[in-house]
Amino acid sequence: MTLPESPAVVTCEYEARLRAVEHELTPYWDKLEKRCHQNFERILEGYLSHGLAEIHFASVTGYGHNDLGREVTDKIFAHALQAESALVRMQMVSGTHAIALALQAALSTSPGGIISLTGSPYDTLEEVIGIRGESPASLMARGYSYQQLELFEGDTIRLSWTPEEQESVRQASVAFIQRSRGYSSRPSLAVADIEELVQQAKNLNPEIVVVVDNCYGEFVETREPTAVGADLIAGSLIKNPGGGLVPTGGYVAGRHHLVEVAAEFLTAPGIGSEGGYTFESTRTILQGLYFAPTVVKEALKGMSLAATVFHQLGYRVYPNDPAKQADIIQMIELQDKDKVLSFCRTLQSVSPVDSRLTPVPAVTPGYADAVVMAGGTFIFGSTIELSADAPMRPPYAVFLQGGLTYSHVRFAIKRILMQLDKLNLN
Ligand SMILES: *Cc1c(COP(=O)(O)O)cnc(C)c1O
Repeated sequence: MTLPESPAVVTCEYEARLRAVEHELTPYWDKLEKRCHQNFERILEGYLSHGLAEIHFASVTGYGHNDLGREVTDKIFAHALQAESALVRMQMVSGTHAIALALQAALSTSPGGIISLTGSPYDTLEEVIGIRGESPASLMARGYSYQQLELFEGDTIRLSWTPEEQESVRQASVAFIQRSRGYSSRPSLAVADIEELVQQAKNLNPEIVVVVDNCYGEFVETREPTAVGADLIAGSLIKNPGGGLVPTGGYVAGRHHLVEVAAEFLTAPGIGSEGGYTFESTRTILQGLYFAPTVVKEALKGMSLAATVFHQLGYRVYPNDPAKQADIIQMIELQDKDKVLSFCRTLQSVSPVDSRLTPVPAVTPGYADAVVMAGGTFIFGSTIELSADAPMRPPYAVFLQGGLTYSHVRFAIKRILMQLDKLNLN
């Protein structure tokens, strides 16, 4: 008589598989650890040199003039992001809002048009620019031109532009670069790639203002785009730089005069960065930044575990080599609708919040196909917390991202493997 295998034995088998992969990944994780130390040291230096103190955690009401906490937060962020200046505000609704402010600031000081050096921008920016939608507030509706250069030939970055493309770069006043792949099929850019793009563009057009969509990239490497010649960067506080603690907001950082113009678009000319209530948020924002390099490292460890495990099972993954990680997203091609659903539902079921919800594919504005989204997060919509999105179309790829702690990602992967095996057995 054979006894059914006890759940403990089954769990053991998955546990052993994960341990073997963890062992393999150790040399890479040592590198992540070193990078984290470097980023943390730079960030902490900002707290020390600007003398962050308890008094900074109180907010000035009303106009918010002379709010010392807001001022020191901007300075500490500028230091962390290797920029002259930074504007960090809860009044920025999202990364899209922050990037829109950066583009408006760049165009108003350097009027003309935008050229995207990295192909199509992130979905939500299409409406900001005016490629999609009919808003009279879009950049194109307000008279700025837009064009884009395709960045890739297959998987390799194309840095040699044709004579016509070079002419377009000369004619443009603002160059736009998107660091992370977002949910497109292109690779994400390393900061060294951004450095080359900036140099190429500035060689052709020394006046061009370079704006970088920095979402998902913060603290993945030890240099930010502002350290390699980008004039402005922008991102979301519910992604990497908020460390999972910050409930909302965004930042713009870069050259002082451009950041000030972005502040005037956010508030009003004459007010700029000097006003605005902080909603008692300074403590949380700065505590989030303090955790950010560690949280990013945990997410990167988790994504490299997922990549290696699924790669070994024969699935196509991107990035397929941890050394190529340039943001906190991991793509896994499951090639099967049921597997995608099982993956996302299992992830949801082991989320700390909303574990009892069942994700279903739904049509989302801006996407052609239904998308299933999973992730029970403390901050609604936060993608530095463990989450997964998958458009319901071939090749049935899941975009897995974030993870505040490695332990959570590891546990989720273990459960997902068990569920996928059950599917295969049926
Ligand atoms: C998340 C993201 C944005 C902005 O998205 P929000 O949801 O508005 O914060 C822009 N670009 C990229 C590449 C992103 O990943």
